[in-house]
Amino acid sequence: MPELRKDPITGRWVIISTERRKRPSAFRLNYVEPLDEVVCPFCEGHEEYTPREVLSYRRSGSANGPGWDVRVVPNKFPALEVEGHLDRQGEGLFDKMNGVGAHEVIIETPDHTASLATMPAAAVERVLWAYRERVLDLKQDTRFRYILIFKNHGAAAGASLGHPHSQLIALPVIPRNVRDEISGARRHYEHKERCVYCDIVRQELDSRVRVISENADFVAVSPYAPRFPFETWLLPKRHGANFEDAPRHEYESLARMLKDTLLRMNRALESPPFNLIIHSAPFTEAAGEYYHWHLEIMPKLTKVAGFEWGTGFYINPTGPEEAAEVLREVNV
Ligand SMILES: [Zn+2]
Ligand SMILES: [Zn+2]
Ligand SMILES: [Zn+2]
Repeated sequence: MPELRKDPITGRWVIISTERRKRPSAFRLNYVEPLDEVVCPFCEGHEEYTPREVLSYRRSGSANGPGWDVRVVPNKFPALEVEGHLDRQGEGLFDKMNGVGAHEVIIETPDHTASLATMPAAAVERVLWAYRERVLDLKQDTRFRYILIFKNHGAAAGASLGHPHSQLIALPVIPRNVRDEISGARRHYEHKERCVYCDIVRQELDSRVRVISENADFVAVSPYAPRFPFETWLLPKRHGANFEDAPRHEYESLARMLKDTLLRMNRALESPPFNLIIHSAPFTEAAGEYYHWHLEIMPKLTKVAGFEWGTGFYINPTGPEEAAEVLREVNV
């Protein structure tokens, strides 16, 4: 019998469908879709193909030339424009504003064939550090209320270039999914005077059934009500609302845990395409007490279809206890 489970933060329902139960091997889709590129604009030596960099960590050379380890550039085809005033108006009921925002690309390595799973942990840490530096800079722009950092890996997950990269979008509004988490966390806090994510960390470490791995600062879990098979959350053990305010050693721990988790997914699920997002508190909201930043990884193994669009809840063929067990037992 399928089971309906409710996410304790957002109240979102999912159906864990045991009838449709799938072992990891059953997901073996044709997800190896090499992205063909004539000239990769993100490779070292091709700096002229991108807009001018806003940040780089370098071994040698100077801005917009070779010699970098991590490079951040504005997106050539931005979803939102960085120039201009924020102008909010509407027609009666209908709200609109002009598309002000920042859209940047974090080129994670000069090596076209590398990945966060295979790069040294120190190189992954540099990428996280670049995220942090860009957030701290963009946060000063009063037009923005939220910054989303995300990564699409593989064509099926929406990546259009094969070179390892992630993206950052600064928005003049707070996205709906973040709103839902914030309101859920606030409700829990008002009721129990505790952070719901801290409660989840404590309970998961206690029962261990959904824990994938753990280090000094982070725990990787399959959430209780996952939307997608093998959805994984990396939760900091220490309470903190904002990713960019974490102490330095946490980035090092996160880098090791992120690399480890992606390696486990690669081995168990044959290098699946995936989306990765960082959820952090909006700048404009005093969410320090009740919100708890975290990172979510969603391997792209199933398709979102009519039922999901129609209901806002998801059918997941792999229970989180099983997913955690599979990932936990991978030899890394
Ligand atoms: Zn490249
Ligand atoms: Zn917390
Ligand atoms: Zn989240």
